[in-house]
Amino acid sequence: MSLEFSQELEAPIVTTAFTPQDAGEVGLRPRLLADYTGQEKAKGNLSVYIEAARRRNEPLDHTLLYGPPGLGKTTLAGVIANEMGAGIRITSGPAIEKPGDLAALLTNLNPGDILFIDEIHRLNRVVEEILYPAMEDFAIDIIVGKGPSANSIRLDLPKFTLVGATTRAGQLSAPLRDRFGVSLRLELYTPEELARIVSRSAAILGMEIDPEGAMEIASRSRGTPRIANRFLRRVRDFAQVMGDGVITKEAADLALSRLEVDKLGLDTIDRRMLTAIIRNYGGGPVGLETLAATIGEEAVTLEDVYEPYLMQLGFLTRTPRGRCVTGLAYEHLHIPYEGQQQFSI
Ligand code: ADP
Repeated sequence: MSLEFSQELEAPIVTTAFTPQDAGEVGLRPRLLADYTGQEKAKGNLSVYIEAARRRNEPLDHTLLYGPPGLGKTTLAGVIANEMGAGIRITSGPAIEKPGDLAALLTNLNPGDILFIDEIHRLNRVVEEILYPAMEDFAIDIIVGKGPSANSIRLDLPKFTLVGATTRAGQLSAPLRDRFGVSLRLELYTPEELARIVSRSAAILGMEIDPEGAMEIASRSRGTPRIANRFLRRVRDFAQVMGDGVITKEAADLALSRLEVDKLGLDTIDRRMLTAIIRNYGGGPVGLETLAATIGEEAVTLEDVYEPYLMQLGFLTRTPRGRCVTGLAYEHLHIPYEGQQQFSI
């Protein structure tokens, strides 16, 4: 048990990426729009499109979901399938290596099915080109044979809906982006929305939690349901071992402080990142690559996992010349702020 526990803690606790400790989250996924908390704007539009498609007895338009990891893109794809009464096939950009892999997936779909491609910005170009006629005309061209006797055969596909998810809409090629009829941006959740998600998850997992306990977890979860659900399980461990098992504000505070997650949900990497900009670069601007090298993290991790939340808090700004830390971050870190200036290391 203790071994398992220490292994689980190897990934940074606030990572938004799926880790082995999140294996249980699949059972926590809401299945219908009504159970899908938050994202009111995306949900409002989506429910109209779903209703319209249902009335016309047609599949939903191809839909692109974008936003930081852990916000519920895969979950929403499942919700769309359930609401449409359709089947769903789940894959990801890097998993589709060859055109033949995609052709096999497409030709095995049933009419109305959802094909969910996570990390769609990582599809390779050759595969992507098969996707264009598939999305537009519900057909693919397959080359049979080799050399002068090679023939192109057009295969008709059932009408399906492609749901693509990406953390980086900007990296999608224009022809692919243009083929999505619907494009929905998922936002970080408010603490109140996350508290609802935490309470719902606790009920499903048969845990006892009080409202302040749920709020404490929620307000430290960086706007991300995946992190909130992960914290909930960790806090339960502490509540069971050190208390009576009920998840209270005190139990949540104790557990999260032990995990070095502060009141706003910042962990050691956030703090190292902000302090490095302040101490080494006078508060910025500093280029992302330089910053990543300074603190020994990957630039993409800083960009995808850490920056969205730090920017939402107003602690970090992105400028054409690099990243800058704001006065609010100095205050949070208890470092005196005298405007942007050079600090000695
Ligand atoms: P993404 O695909 O964006 O990385 P997921 O769909 O895998 O994120 O969501 C991560 C977990 O967070 C899910 O397993 C689910 O339990 C939870 N979750 C996400 N969005 C919601 C939501 N709106 N309401 C309730 N739980 C959610």
